[in-house]
Amino acid sequence: MKKIAIICISFLLLLSCDNTKQSKNDDFTVGIATFSHETCTFCPRPTGIEEFEYYGLPLEGDEVLIADSYIRGFVDRTQEYGGVQLEGITSPRDAVGGSSGSWITKEAFDKYTGAMQDDIRTNGPYDGIYLSLHGAMAVTGIQKPEAEIVRRIREVAGDIPIIVTLDLHANEDHELSDVASGVIIIKRYPHYDTYYQGERAARLMINTLRGDYTPVMSTRKPGVITPSVYQGTGVSPAMEIMERARRWEDRMPGVYVSVAFGFAYADVPDVGATVMVITNNDKELADRIADDMSEYIWRVRHEFAGKKLPKAAEGVVLSIEAAEAGKTPVVIADQSDRTGNSTHILAELIKQGAKNFCIATIADKKLINQLADSGAEKGDKINVMVGGYADEYAGEPVEISGTLEYFDKFGRFDKTAVIKFGSNNTVIITPELHQVTDAGIFGDLNLNMDVIDIISLKSRVHFRRGFYENGLAGAIYEVDAPGLGPADLTTIDYKNIPKDIYPVYRRD
Ligand SMILES: [Zn+2]
Repeated sequence: MKKIAIICISFLLLLSCDNTKQSKNDDFTVGIATFSHETCTFCPRPTGIEEFEYYGLPLEGDEVLIADSYIRGFVDRTQEYGGVQLEGITSPRDAVGGSSGSWITKEAFDKYTGAMQDDIRTNGPYDGIYLSLHGAMAVTGIQKPEAEIVRRIREVAGDIPIIVTLDLHANEDHELSDVASGVIIIKRYPHYDTYYQGERAARLMINTLRGDYTPVMSTRKPGVITPSVYQGTGVSPAMEIMERARRWEDRMPGVYVSVAFGFAYADVPDVGATVMVITNNDKELADRIADDMSEYIWRVRHEFAGKKLPKAAEGVVLSIEAAEAGKTPVVIADQSDRTGNSTHILAELIKQGAKNFCIATIADKKLINQLADSGAEKGDKINVMVGGYADEYAGEPVEISGTLEYFDKFGRFDKTAVIKFGSNNTVIITPELHQVTDAGIFGDLNLNMDVIDIISLKSRVHFRRGFYENGLAGAIYEVDAPGLGPADLTTIDYKNIPKDIYPVYRRD
């Protein structure tokens, strides 16, 4: 008898698992969307619909549920809890060129926020919405884009929990926390904890939906702006700031303490560090923690924003010395180049007679097209001009005579070129900016890493994943060549940032 009852219940459960919202297993339905961009407003090329649809039309339905690692964390954790049906809301893909893209057009912003609204009107209502945003989007004519995204979603979704996750390069202020129910920001750079913070967002969402948690937020702007190259959380004081946030979270159960260091290469009014704290309906505690975190960031502002990096010539001297001392591979982080087209390090390595070096990579679409048009093939002897034109700081085109060792697909790119020249030197040409974060690229392009002494990357901190944390690099030099992303922020001609921000306007 008992056995028959169990079989009947199982059968009923099977019947109810038809994935509709009416399913008895699903207490709540949560919509998920993403709209992410880190906008370098000083870069030359605007980001429009063409850029957002370069890799395909916007994601729909289940495609959204695997769009990024924040969302995967959110989805996995939600499934562990059970009782929640997840639905993807129409979302744009990553824009081509990533953070080398400048101001997002209002047309693109309106198109994708409009598509989200239409989708919610058609497929809603939802009990909650989770948004995976980056937080450093800059849109022509819209002052605080992420807050505006949430506002537009709320217009059609109503007064429901809207939980947002952000990259730590986000530029935000209270406008976002005023309209979102909760904001959680990753704590690690390199960004190891995207999945984990997505999981925490799921926990916050579910507890809020169940009525066990009432998120209350406090937001502070310490008034400090720092270049990305100083923000790696493996070094102080970035490490201590995040450690302090984790300490608060450990001491006070149910508290979420987030810090965005900000993205300095965006000329926007909410630029710079942001503290965002969520508590369970305890505004006084949220204020206290937010004040403590904000005051701490202000106290360490001098070491956080005021280091000095070698310029191109000095950085290359140091790199060659390290290579000759056997500390290979030496990694040069060409940290200031935001378009990926700059040739300062390449020119300096040639000038100083460096051997066995590899530039990974220079973004040069013109050269890729030129090689394709001329029918160039692997093994061809070529004489070409490389890079040095995409922005005012990109340097001069550099003449390279050598052998085309590779000209084929690589990752997302239809064509990537590897040119060998001089004393075992290599330059890799990609059609768009490509930030190399590990040594995988060398194997993919048939390059033998054992014979490369110096590697120059267009990266600030992310390369530390695959070159420092695994002990691969013998020495690392972050070099501040001329570029749109200088380490010395006082050299940038900002128009829209707060007039009292350290160190651009306040120097004390
Ligand atoms: Zn980031």
